[in-house]
Amino acid sequence: MPESRSSMAPDTSHRARIIDGRATAARVRAEVARQVAVLAGRHGVTPGLAVILVGADPASKIYVRNKGKQTREAGMRSFETLLPASVAQAELLDNIARLNADTAVHGILVQLPLPRQIDELAIIDALAPHKDVDGFSMINTGLLAARSSGMVPCTPLGCLLLLKEYVGALSGQRALVVGRSNLVGKPMMQLLLREHCTVTVAHSRTRDLAEECRRADILIAAIGKPGLIKGDWIRPGATVIDVGINRISVPSPDGPREKLAGDVDFDTAVHVAGAITPVPGGVGPMTIACLLKNTVIAACAQNHIDPGSLSG
Ligand code: NAD
Repeated sequence: MPESRSSMAPDTSHRARIIDGRATAARVRAEVARQVAVLAGRHGVTPGLAVILVGADPASKIYVRNKGKQTREAGMRSFETLLPASVAQAELLDNIARLNADTAVHGILVQLPLPRQIDELAIIDALAPHKDVDGFSMINTGLLAARSSGMVPCTPLGCLLLLKEYVGALSGQRALVVGRSNLVGKPMMQLLLREHCTVTVAHSRTRDLAEECRRADILIAAIGKPGLIKGDWIRPGATVIDVGINRISVPSPDGPREKLAGDVDFDTAVHVAGAITPVPGGVGPMTIACLLKNTVIAACAQNHIDPGSLSG
């Protein structure tokens, strides 16, 4: 258990264990590839993942390209639908209906955010729930809250896998989730509750966020504000999972350059936390790995195969 809070200056000789999301994600992908080979060899099923990208946002394009590459590397089929930013909602819905009906497609992901003319929730809810590998639809949201089945959103699932690997038993731990979005904060809260953590959710209206943070054995930051959480907000020995991906400009001899930063001020937090995810290289790689994992689960469910039967 973490020690009680000390009001002394951080012990700079202490360095938290760095949670290596790249390594864990590589292991998850290797296991997925093994399961895909068993599915193909034993059942003649090759899982297929379809991604729909609307518009040409550079970050989304890179993300979609990586998804396609990692899908193929795991031995699955990758399908991409690229639509212009001006696309009408009806045309997007037609594409979803086509993919819902395509038996070679087991998982469908619509890259978010969508342009303004599109009702994002209507699009997400048009996905067949058993193909909704992002787990954002109304049905999967309900299943996560009230049952133990259904598709679990990839980023919170990735955070949970890291916690299980680096913390082990989560039961009874005091967890704080900062951020209450439908994509990250709320499903994260549900997953931690399922693991019997005592969960608090903080958000932009929370009074004294620092004090809330100081009580947490497990701190999940999903805010979108670079470096908001400082080292002296963290309970000594706590496990810190930084979901934030923020592009910041930093000075360099060749002029300002862009780099990625998390929601936690890593340089101060690393001297207080017991374990911490870096940004990049922490939660990020886990998201795509969990997407592949969900696609295998979806392919199994659609072919009446017990995913447990694929274990080595
Ligand atoms: P969001 O904007 O939908 O939600 C942000 C949440 O932070 C809100 O609930 C808001 O109440 C809370 N918040 C804002 N300011 C706050 C403050 N000052 N104090 C406390 N809470 C505050 O964002 P999101 O989609 O949940 O994403 C959060 C971050 O995670 C972003 O940086 C995003 O890029 C990143 N993200 C990373 C991955 C990944 O794969 N690593 C995936 C999804 C999102």
